[in-house]
Amino acid sequence: MPRLYPLEKTRNIGIIAHIDAGKTTTTERILYYTGISHKIGEVHEGTTVTDWMPQERERGITITAAAITCFWTQTYLKKIENKEERIKGEYKINIIDTPGHVDFTAEVERSLRVLDGAVVVFDGVQGVEAQSETVWHQADKYRVPRICFINKLDRLGASFEDSLHSINERLTKNALPVTIPVGREENFRSVIDLISMELIDFEGEKGEIVIRKDIPQNLLNEAEKYRKLMLEKLAESDEEFMNKYLEDNFDKNDIRQAIRRACLKYEFIPVYCGSSLKNRGVQLVLDGVVDFLPSPFDLNEIKGNDPKTGAEITRKPSDSDYFSALAFKLAIDPFVGTLTYIRIYSGTLKRGDTVLNTRTNETFRVGRLVVMKANQREEVEELFAGDIGAIVGVKELKTGDTICNPKEPIILETIRFAEPVIWMKVEPKTKQDQEKMGISLKALSDEDPTFKIKIDQETGDTLIGGMGELHLEIMVDRLKREFKIETNVGAPQVAYRETITKAVEAEGKYIRQSGGRGQYGHVVIKVEPLERNKGFEFINAIKSGVIPDNFIPAVEKGIRETIEKGVVAGYPLTDLKITLFDGSFHEVDSSDLAFKIAAEIALKDAVKKANPIFLEPIMKLEVFVPADFLGDVTGDLASRRAKIEEVSDSGEMKKILAKVPLAEMFGYVTVLRSLTQGRGFSYLEFSNYQEVPQYLFDNIINNRQTTRR
Ligand code: GDP
Repeated sequence: MPRLYPLEKTRNIGIIAHIDAGKTTTTERILYYTGISHKIGEVHEGTTVTDWMPQERERGITITAAAITCFWTQTYLKKIENKEERIKGEYKINIIDTPGHVDFTAEVERSLRVLDGAVVVFDGVQGVEAQSETVWHQADKYRVPRICFINKLDRLGASFEDSLHSINERLTKNALPVTIPVGREENFRSVIDLISMELIDFEGEKGEIVIRKDIPQNLLNEAEKYRKLMLEKLAESDEEFMNKYLEDNFDKNDIRQAIRRACLKYEFIPVYCGSSLKNRGVQLVLDGVVDFLPSPFDLNEIKGNDPKTGAEITRKPSDSDYFSALAFKLAIDPFVGTLTYIRIYSGTLKRGDTVLNTRTNETFRVGRLVVMKANQREEVEELFAGDIGAIVGVKELKTGDTICNPKEPIILETIRFAEPVIWMKVEPKTKQDQEKMGISLKALSDEDPTFKIKIDQETGDTLIGGMGELHLEIMVDRLKREFKIETNVGAPQVAYRETITKAVEAEGKYIRQSGGRGQYGHVVIKVEPLERNKGFEFINAIKSGVIPDNFIPAVEKGIRETIEKGVVAGYPLTDLKITLFDGSFHEVDSSDLAFKIAAEIALKDAVKKANPIFLEPIMKLEVFVPADFLGDVTGDLASRRAKIEEVSDSGEMKKILAKVPLAEMFGYVTVLRSLTQGRGFSYLEFSNYQEVPQYLFDNIINNRQTTRR
């Protein structure tokens, strides 16, 4: 079946907001309006509607799905009754769920990565809030074009002007209204469309009927004022439009096209207004999504790497290029099992195709493909470039994997499976939840490759590891919300590592002669430091059988285990080379066990003699603060052993870039908040491991002993 919706008529968007600004309510309204509008001309790209359970119809999948597909035609176009014509006019919008928490976790990064445009929702009473700033800057980082929606204008204390002002002051001067509200607070009823210069009312039970009228005389001045700002800004950004503007020769479509071009360049951010709860204004936001946010076609080619040579290669956003897609979310669906959500960047994917997972270098056959519609899951035969859908029942895929045409492999994202830099003990509040917690943690870790679980061999505790304090907090919160498991957690522990600074030789002997059969293992090794990030190497340089070959694996095992367990304070050893070059054996008494123990003894002794040091995770820190607080914040950072690399302007804020040891950063979010009256915010991301200053050496050993007790 050919594609029904051309690539230019596809939008992949996310709705992002500070918690409570109205993301859920707005999404529900969008699904409602797109649902009714689509029903009249309803066709299915798919063949069957699967597993449509009554419970789901009520609410379930609509809001929790990682991506929902809906359809929209602009409200200002004449309604077309002919079904086929109507479908031709429709746009396909995939709404990609963005996590409620915002930080540098793998999940946020990936959801921002697969969407092409965003709607940022603001609370009309609060204006810009801390998290709106965070998401805004993250969207900047990924260069995501966006539109704003000032919501909740029906609330007591709501102010469109103040909210707009806070956006202009704190986020960007490029945000300008394309609609303005009529009436304040409980009298807020209608909006004025500044592009068409019409007053718009919303009637019907859920405001689904959009009625356009002339603007009453008493509101014209205000509307003209805002319209002028909009037009001037467009003329500034767009030469084509400037010429038309100067000649006073342009129509609604010229304005829309100019906004689209400027929006894709981040030079104009259309601001909408309304109240999702009171069913006002949301349809115009949908018009804006279609008119101003990019289609996959508007994006450049996607870059990736050849898995064999590492060379950079690209794919076009087109059905005719080789197939490539990114898995961005795993979900366990109670009705169909594992769903792997993918975004197709190039080519098409049919049911039954064999595709390559470039992480594992294994191919698999694609069984069922589904897309999520507002109230149902729909099985489809084929997904096209730019589409978002899910593969059913594939166990081998993880978040972040690239799948592609096996003949033309590509890795779309260089995935760094960074090892955790922080660990925390976690235990269920009730003993009965122990097993359930294990299963749930496993599911979370499949979804997020940087989240790890291990059992502390000494204490038997379950430890969770990740890329930062907030990352672990989010996971604990997800255990509670999604899996209904309440837990107690321990204090976060930095994942230090041990290494050595000079080359030494050492000997290990394990010789016992007691009664019957004795024990005899004897090894001599040399250890040398390696460069950072080289891990460890083991070299067997034994000649002429001074230790028989069959005992070498036991020696290596003893060494590996000691590397894992550490020597100085129980942190894993890294960046060292170990050469086994001498030793001896006994015909009768030698055994694997004896050689393993001898190796352990030798390595422990060697490390102690080789001037051991600790390595600690260093984080890349980005802090955004209002200029007034810059001094306080940099002063505080200096006391945390931070190295400030750059201070620059970012919109209305100052941005500080620094490197700082993770150990100094626990609880930083709270400190920053109090230093900046709640306005500062930060991102923390793992950067590299670095030597711990000598004066802290004993502290680490002592702390380790207390936490282990
Ligand atoms: P989310 O956390 O961003 O998903 O926000 P919700 O959509 O769950 O909304 C948070 C609260 O604000 C809920 O109690 C909503 O009913 C309420 N709310 C959402 N939109 C509006 C609105 O337009 N006006 C008013 N008065 N309340 C709203």
